[in-house]
Amino acid sequence: MAAAALGGDRLARALARIDGAVVEGLERLAFPRGPIRGVVQTNNPNVLGRKDPSCTFEINSIYIARFLRGPRGTDSILRTWVHESLHGRSPYAEGHLAEYRRAPGYEEGLAEGLAQIVARRYGGLDPPSGAYRSLASSMDIEVEQLLRALWRSPTGRVRHALPLVMDNLRRTGGYLPMTGAQLRMLQARADTMFDQSRGLLVPNELTMEMVWKTVLR
Ligand SMILES: [Zn+2]
Repeated sequence: MAAAALGGDRLARALARIDGAVVEGLERLAFPRGPIRGVVQTNNPNVLGRKDPSCTFEINSIYIARFLRGPRGTDSILRTWVHESLHGRSPYAEGHLAEYRRAPGYEEGLAEGLAQIVARRYGGLDPPSGAYRSLASSMDIEVEQLLRALWRSPTGRVRHALPLVMDNLRRTGGYLPMTGAQLRMLQARADTMFDQSRGLLVPNELTMEMVWKTVLR
């Protein structure tokens, strides 16, 4: 990592963590990234991150720093990183620009389509919806049922609604009502799961499911 160029140890550590998670996740799913020459900083305002034809991974640390502060930060960064790593599956073919100029969708559709599949399959790459999916599966309900119920709450009221929505869904499924202590515990666990400032230090879906079950059983 070009730590010096990225400005700030925290950012450099975050980037190293993201890159490690992406590489590991892609390898697990049998999409290993090809060799890269290293990660360098770019100031190109059109680039968040990309693998250039010379196999250098360019990262715009200004955007990364901005994204990391935002609520959906790690999601956007990871999606981009996975997408770019998929472009980097092997060295670019000679004359690759000819295909790209004629119909960029061949390559872009491939990278983005796989990035979405990877993000969905690999829990650690998509923490927010992974937390919902694991919560739903810990209760044997469809995640869509949970999300539809939460959708009735306006923006800014989802956190407040979650324990009661879960309690209602459970009761519909024949479970006893949750106790006050359970409701508070559920909120506390959810506060941790949905805290994006923790970045990638979010457990994978299986771990999350186990955590939910300790509250909900
Ligand atoms: Zn692309």
